[in-house]
Amino acid sequence: MLSNSLVELDRKHLIHPVSSFRGHEARGVRVLRSAKGAQVTDAEGHTLIDGFAGLWCVNAGYGHESIVAAAADQMRKLPYATGYFDLGAEAPIRLAAELAERSPGDLDHIYFTLGGSDAVDSTIRFVRYYWHARGEPQRDQFISVEQGYHGSTSAGAGLTALPGFHEGFGIPYSWQHKISSHYVYRNPVGPEPQAIIDASVAELRAKVAEIGEERVAAFYLEPIQGSGGVLVPPTGWVKAMRDVCSELGILFIADEVITGFGRTGPLFACEEEGIVPDLMTTAKGLTSGYVPMGAVFMREHVYQTIADGAGAKAVGHGFTYSAHPVSAAVALEVLALYEGGLLENGRTMGARLMEGLRSLADHPLVGDVRGRGMLAAVELVSDKAARTPLPASLQPATRLFDRAWDAGLIVRSFPQGIFGYAPPLCCTADEIDQIVERTRTVLDQTLQDPEIR
Ligand code: PMP
Repeated sequence: MLSNSLVELDRKHLIHPVSSFRGHEARGVRVLRSAKGAQVTDAEGHTLIDGFAGLWCVNAGYGHESIVAAAADQMRKLPYATGYFDLGAEAPIRLAAELAERSPGDLDHIYFTLGGSDAVDSTIRFVRYYWHARGEPQRDQFISVEQGYHGSTSAGAGLTALPGFHEGFGIPYSWQHKISSHYVYRNPVGPEPQAIIDASVAELRAKVAEIGEERVAAFYLEPIQGSGGVLVPPTGWVKAMRDVCSELGILFIADEVITGFGRTGPLFACEEEGIVPDLMTTAKGLTSGYVPMGAVFMREHVYQTIADGAGAKAVGHGFTYSAHPVSAAVALEVLALYEGGLLENGRTMGARLMEGLRSLADHPLVGDVRGRGMLAAVELVSDKAARTPLPASLQPATRLFDRAWDAGLIVRSFPQGIFGYAPPLCCTADEIDQIVERTRTVLDQTLQDPEIR
């Protein structure tokens, strides 16, 4: 009853992110009511395993009383403090220091935002400011990677490479350029790692030459592409791109909004390749989704250049909720939980998840299994040998999502027929095994679909 009236109110009044308004009206909302650990319960009382940690963000899992207590204590003590006018609060200062201590290299200066999109947008502004300060304001061209996702602000969505984020919005802008993804399973140069790395290096160099070396400001990548379908680059790819940027004097920006905070194993995925980006964006796992927050990490040389360039002038970029004390208090507790065992559990469970998903590889619908840590994908095909994507008529994004739901599993079902997994790091072995088994159930059911034949 309660659920029915909510569905009606939702249909009438709530606009959902990245949704077909009409499609959503027709389908209606599924209301979630409560959650604990890696399991969520809907308004009808069905309990499901959340194999996607909300939106790849609830890394710590649901229902941690210590996080609730940290937020409540902070709200009681000081629910808000601006960072304007040289003011501040204890929690964000402590959080910045803790993050700087753990970040790769000298990424020691932290700018807090409300989420990932405004973190990316902030980097665009800082990059422009940096080149002005360096006396090279003509460096105003940005390069990112096809299949990449860098948020949904106007500027960030132009770095994002998903057509649905561009059509009808007048983006990307003329200063936004792309190079091909590494997409190993469907790379025209084949799956051999060095061939993919060489091709990407050559393409980035060619793109920079085409734009004009003296005009390129920055290059953006995700250590693992998330929203493009969980595309894992060959080992060494990220470092090779970093090296090209260093050689050509272009700022290198790692967008770790998904990969940060234990998702792939270490605290930050950049650590795996031993690289230090000039700027790094994070969000999601920073607060485990309990409250909104993102963070831009800035290297010493970028910070000093901007500081010297501005002199006594204010750097005109800020939000009312920059460095929100409640979000910071939550993030501090979340960090303690990660280091108190969740990162380690995530690494163990990540290995189990990959092993389990790989056991599906000989299913007739499975073309590719890929991932690292607690971030994985199964790419479905209707013909394995030809790597034929599932037919669009099957509507994977909704039909396969529904099927997984009915099997008791929340999974990301990408429109091109890819299942994405990003379970909470707190998962038990049994929950990981259930994620795999429920996926197998969905695959077996889908094999019976008339569209497959
Ligand atoms: N960058 C990446 C790599 C992301 O995956 C996302 C969100 N999925 C964003 C930026 C944007 O973050 P938000 O949705 O918090 O604005």
